[in-house]
Amino acid sequence: MSGITIPEKSKEEVTAAVDLQKAYYGSGKTRPLEARKAHLKKLGEVLRENESKILKALHDDLNKSEREAYTTEIGILLEEINFTLKNLDSWAKPKKVKTAVTHFGSKGYRIPEPYGVSLIIAPWNYPIQLAISPLIGALAAGNTAILKPSEITPNTSRVLVELFEDFEKGLIHVLEGGVETNQLLLDQPFDYIFFTGSVPVGKIVMEAASKRLIPVTLELGGKSPCIVHEDADLSLAAKRVAFGKLANSGQTCIAPDYLFVHENVKESFIEEYKKAVHEFYGNEPFQSDQYGKVVNKRHYTRLKSYLSDGEVIYGGGFSDENLQIQPTLLKPRSTEVPVMTEEIFGPIFPVLTYGSLEEVKSFVTSRPKPLALYLFTGSENVERDITENLSFGGGCINDTLMHIVTPHLPFGGVGESGIGSYHGESSFSTFSHYKSILKQTTRFDFSFKYPNSKNGLKILRRLLK
Ligand code: NAD
Repeated sequence: MSGITIPEKSKEEVTAAVDLQKAYYGSGKTRPLEARKAHLKKLGEVLRENESKILKALHDDLNKSEREAYTTEIGILLEEINFTLKNLDSWAKPKKVKTAVTHFGSKGYRIPEPYGVSLIIAPWNYPIQLAISPLIGALAAGNTAILKPSEITPNTSRVLVELFEDFEKGLIHVLEGGVETNQLLLDQPFDYIFFTGSVPVGKIVMEAASKRLIPVTLELGGKSPCIVHEDADLSLAAKRVAFGKLANSGQTCIAPDYLFVHENVKESFIEEYKKAVHEFYGNEPFQSDQYGKVVNKRHYTRLKSYLSDGEVIYGGGFSDENLQIQPTLLKPRSTEVPVMTEEIFGPIFPVLTYGSLEEVKSFVTSRPKPLALYLFTGSENVERDITENLSFGGGCINDTLMHIVTPHLPFGGVGESGIGSYHGESSFSTFSHYKSILKQTTRFDFSFKYPNSKNGLKILRRLLK
């Protein structure tokens, strides 16, 4: 345990930080592309230079292994920065559009412009990645940003402050604090709010933003199903499912939350899952330096209570001292117990079986739209059936988590799992307003639009035939 508590900020401190950013943005310093690129390059350097400090904080807060922390919190950001630097010129260019027949002689184009001062609110589970990934989009699009890290991972929150000490506060300000600080921030006249976190707090954010009509992106959570069909490659599927379920000890927004396995392959899949867990973490996961811990006592107690929501078929052990729970398979008593209605966010995996895909589809559609969905199958018909008939943020066929790692795929939820998306060009467009401009010709003037035109209506009807 770290013992660090993050103090709340006063209203004056919060207002001063926002005023400073308003002034900085107003100076126009964030607009030139060269300045944006310089900020992104500096961000990359800061991440590289502080790698060991970041890894240590993530270990202290979440017991993340060096491999996992580097890949999911640093590597992914360096890739995103490189991709953005490579493509920024083309994303930021005004884009010509076609001319409608009624607008003959004119030209149309769209210019992306920054929103202005943005607020980025981050959660605790990937506390570096989920604070900095949106920031890359904000800076690339020419915004300033106030970043509010989660108070639940205080070591990482501290490191985030240190990372940005050499940046001008008017450009990037890491404002540490908890719920009260966030509430003060949500009272401020931001130009954009990017929130990652839980559904209930997402609603609070949207309600606050609606008072000033501030546009928002909400990256939320929920229960992401994982479907293993009878024709799947079971041993590969089990490995990839266990990887996605147990990364960060299950505390991943897009982790497979519960399993739907075809009744014909249930037993074999469970055996393969056990084998995969054993290969990854050995006989004693708590002894493995690759196995994380639950972030705090509150979440640990919540997870432990799920163990009585059904029959434990694998694992089920826990350590009160280290806040760890074994990789667990659980047959839920019903689909209405908490482990089947709340987002699990831990290494407990409820197992449901099905005989026909119709059962899976009707179950998934009866629940809020998930952030992710994973399907393991060898059949393109099954793939089409699921991807065309179920609504979810995004997902993978024959893998888990990996759709979040590519900058070519926008990432985000739908319905209760979120509003908007980011990564790659989508991060740039999320933090940009696209101004539409029509440039009219002065070489001639169509008189049919004017009120005194005698046959204007006739001409228009003919044009639109
Ligand atoms: P959270 O919603 O509790 O907290 C997120 C942020 O909101 C924190 O910075 C916190 O200080 C602030 N906050 C908390 N309560 C608040 C309140 N009452 N008023 C104002 N601000 C408040 O989320 P969390 O526990 O940090 O993260 C876990 C959740 O985030 C899970 O639901 C998970 O699925 C989701 N998540 C989603 C994504 C995604 O990309 N879609 C990624 C990671 C986590």
